[in-house]
Amino acid sequence: MAKKSKAVRLTIKLACTECKEQNYTTQKNRRNDPSRLELRKYCPRCRRHTLHREVK
Ligand SMILES: [Zn+2]
Repeated sequence: MAKKSKAVRLTIKLACTECKEQNYTTQKNRRNDPSRLELRKYCPRCRRHTLHREVK
């Protein structure tokens, strides 16, 4: 039936932009962050901090 489409808080994955490993999952608020999230986080594969970007 009709599903609720008011999910403002979305669960997203954060992937390393260098090795593409998906290291983190987080939630974001669609109203606060309408664009793609980018965060500097530690990547265990690169073994250093890299830029992590939201992926679907
Ligand atoms: Zn990496």
